Amino acid sequence: MKGKCPECEADIDVPDDAVDGEILTCDECGSDIEVVKAGAKVQLRKAELKGEDWGE
Ligand SMILES: [Zn+2]
Repeated sequence: MKGKCPECEADIDVPDDAVDGEILTCDECGSDIEVVKAGAKVQLRKAELKGEDWGE
């Protein structure tokens, strides 16, 4: 499967056995991308790392 990076729109290879919520890393921009499965479709969105404090 192929997806597009929501950040830089580079093509990202999504493993056929990727599961909902799996985190991939974009080779182009290094963003963490979350796999969102909706039925037979796969969407990619920027992963939001909750519970991590950046800075203060
Ligand atoms: Zn990217």
